[in-house]
Amino acid sequence: MTTFLSTTIPYVNARPHLGFALELVQGDVLARHGRQAGDQVRYQTGTDDNSLKNVLAAEAEGISPATLVGRNAAAFAGLREPLALSFDDFIRTSSDPRHQPGVERLWRACEASGDLYRKSYEGLYCVRCEQFYAEAELDEGNCPDHGTPPQLVAEENWFFRLSRYADQLHAAISSGQLRIEPASKRNEVLGFIAGGLEDFSVSRSVERARGWGIPVPGDPSQVIYVWWDALGNYITALRYGSDGADYRHWWTGADRRVHLVGRGVLRFHAVYWPAILLSAGEPLPTEIFVHDYLTVDGRKISKSAASGARSDPAELAATFGIDAVRWWLLRDVPRAGDVDFTVDRLIARANEDLANGLGNLVSRVGALVHSSRDGVIRACPRPAGTSRWLAAASTPAGSLPDAPLPAALPPPALPPAALRSAAGLAAGLAVASASGPAADRDHAPSWPADAAGLLGALEQAPVAVRAALARFDFRAAAAAVWTIVEEANRYVDATEPWHLARAERAGDAAAGQRLDGVLGALVAACQILAAELWPFLPDLAARLAVACDDSAGVLPAPRPLFPRIETRQYPAASTQSEVA
Ligand SMILES: [Zn+2]
Repeated sequence: MTTFLSTTIPYVNARPHLGFALELVQGDVLARHGRQAGDQVRYQTGTDDNSLKNVLAAEAEGISPATLVGRNAAAFAGLREPLALSFDDFIRTSSDPRHQPGVERLWRACEASGDLYRKSYEGLYCVRCEQFYAEAELDEGNCPDHGTPPQLVAEENWFFRLSRYADQLHAAISSGQLRIEPASKRNEVLGFIAGGLEDFSVSRSVERARGWGIPVPGDPSQVIYVWWDALGNYITALRYGSDGADYRHWWTGADRRVHLVGRGVLRFHAVYWPAILLSAGEPLPTEIFVHDYLTVDGRKISKSAASGARSDPAELAATFGIDAVRWWLLRDVPRAGDVDFTVDRLIARANEDLANGLGNLVSRVGALVHSSRDGVIRACPRPAGTSRWLAAASTPAGSLPDAPLPAALPPPALPPAALRSAAGLAAGLAVASASGPAADRDHAPSWPADAAGLLGALEQAPVAVRAALARFDFRAAAAAVWTIVEEANRYVDATEPWHLARAERAGDAAAGQRLDGVLGALVAACQILAAELWPFLPDLAARLAVACDDSAGVLPAPRPLFPRIETRQYPAASTQSEVA
């Protein structure tokens, strides 16, 4: 399976906010999950630099657009490390040498199809949306998104013959050739197409664009409309404009071409972009997943306002850790519908799941293994169908000319596979035979009969995760992984291994044998959980994998896996709303 996967590229007139972090983390889960299953995945993101909004924001600060977008783009690329993202490529539309030739080629291809023409135009334009609105679409004369009056713009522009593609688009979407999820969003797009598509303006005068953007090929008086330019990023980063080898591999030749988008840009991705591709004679995306929005402390995140500290994803990760931030985004955000973020909710979720549910499980198992077996235990055999660690780190596929990308993400810390060298294993076995309290540590204990529920969870979770991710239901996928934690804790409570240990010390050999089985099952469950959790929480999964690694014959000394976040260190959310 070959998968091309993208986020949208946000315009960079401000620092990144938590809503975009959601999209990045969702994409990262899909990318890691696919790679773990052995798929070829290219995960791409970047920034939309050529917007007029960026020019205006730069003017307001008295700096050049290039300086402004360079600074803010660095903040977006810089999310890679704080959020443990594994994207392979980061394209900046104003400075990446792959971009302009690709946009020009796309323009020429549509021109060759007869779909570009010049026309005088007058319309109401919202600069913050970078789009024209019909009067009927306005909300009491104001932009429905921004609540500000649009400008009346009159000029001669290039137009794209969108009207020509209505039937083809409708057919592609209703047949599922281009699958839009959730279904409510597909229906919204189908309704929009059925209402009639009008040709749209795809250029701006150089004066109105302040000379910022990509000139129309053959018409230097015009700059290509920023949305046309931005949508092209998905293929320009694949060198569509030059040798095209990446393009053939990752777009034309891919089994899946997946875009993750926010609902505000659905029309651009599900109507305009596929129409441009149809006109250019190129394959359509296969899937578009549309997420809804986050609010922060009950208020809309304003894209144009500087993000407050309470919705700045890098600051949240610095304060509460990568795991807590990713886990809230994945575990609490529904597939459809807006959801409100507060720091209190993030803390509550992390403490309940990561500190209590998982942290307690691992500390109980580790303490038992060390108090009753000197740390020496063999895990029960891995059931078929469970995931394995991915030893190889993701490597950037694209060239990153002047993108401010950290040189390389460190490999997903210490995958236990790396510890399983022949030498390490031999040394481990020597330790085991020297100090193991039981006679034979070479053979893993078989699964105890009373562990059927746990074994069932281990076998079912990967199936449920795969099914949930196939429908882009990240919350259901996270919940499916979590059934392993819940079943494992239930198993500890049901078997009460500390009683078995006491009975064994009193001379009950059968209790000792039973304890081997229980601990073997729990260690195996933790190992499998680490692999299943890796796409969601790569950092925590790596720590968990180390904590329950039996390849050296002895488990490491127990250490707290996820310390509880103490709420009193942080002021209540209500006292510090900073988001406009
Ligand atoms: Zn607007």
